[in-house]
Amino acid sequence: MPNWASGYIQVKGKPKDVENFCKLFIFEEDEGNKKGKYFARSFVHQSWKDFKKEHLGGSEVGFNVDFAWSCWSCMFEGYPNDKEGCVTLEWAIKKYNVDVTIETEEEGVGFEEVIITKDKKPIYTSENMPLYKCYKCGNEQQIPTSREYDLSNVDCYECEEYGFVDELTELIKEKVKMIEEEKNETNI
Ligand SMILES: [Zn+2]
Repeated sequence: MPNWASGYIQVKGKPKDVENFCKLFIFEEDEGNKKGKYFARSFVHQSWKDFKKEHLGGSEVGFNVDFAWSCWSCMFEGYPNDKEGCVTLEWAIKKYNVDVTIETEEEGVGFEEVIITKDKKPIYTSENMPLYKCYKCGNEQQIPTSREYDLSNVDCYECEEYGFVDELTELIKEKVKMIEEEKNETNI
């Protein structure tokens, strides 16, 4: 079993081009027998029929894709030796004249990828997920950037507590907010 990079992709273009681009992913019924050109090991967990109904028809779509290992290994390297039909993101962007952004999170190894399109070419960046220390047990854990805004809901793998917010700091913040609110009330 590979590690999975869970991705969110947005595609913009003419509706027919967007549709043809999306068809390159592996849908439920394609698993193990995808025909024609496609993105290697890039899975949309839906049937093509449902996907079409839910997402297609407009000039812009956004949906989830799971990449085996990383978006890089699936859409940039494209597994050239795997099967003949595997294409790269760069190829597909040019072919269908679409604008693509992708964000992924890989929590096993702890990295995040961001891909944008510039001048019909995909620009790739990858970074390690930010590292946090649990206030309760000292465990260090990588937390996706997308969850940083709400650390109070992230649980620690070691002690299983919501240990990534400092309770004292939170308490002070709350008090300050209360005092400000009281002040505002007396001003009125
Ligand atoms: Zn902990």
